[in-house]
Amino acid sequence: MADASGAGRPAPITAPLSEPFWEGTRNGELRLQRCGSCSRFVWTPQYACPDCLSEDYEWVACSGRGVVYSYTVVHRSIDPSRFEAPYVLAVVQLEEGPHLLTNIVGCEPEAVQVDMPVEVRFERIDDEFTVYPFAPREVQE
Ligand SMILES: [Zn+2]
Repeated sequence: MADASGAGRPAPITAPLSEPFWEGTRNGELRLQRCGSCSRFVWTPQYACPDCLSEDYEWVACSGRGVVYSYTVVHRSIDPSRFEAPYVLAVVQLEEGPHLLTNIVGCEPEAVQVDMPVEVRFERIDDEFTVYPFAPREVQE
């Protein structure tokens, strides 16, 4: 089974604005900014709310659940030593609203479908970075 993360993977480029997010993934939390004025969840990290322009926000752990909004299966890796093809690049719509660019793991690429329920599955790269691919989840009736 393809695995788009792990050893040899290039480390994310971070900025002070996104450090609370990476601190969250290291601790098993998928954190989003939530606007203190209008309560909107925001991704990617912003200095001001895209709706109301408030600079009052807090970082909160989100559910880590969502659905596949869009995806593509990569068959020719840009760097086979770091990314073993095939792998799935996807946009996941979180329950909280934002869309997140990520990978889908834990199933064959052919099994991925739009609207498929998924949940985050943290994968530690090193002491500094834990990435956040998503995997299929069971839906409770
Ligand atoms: Zn707002």
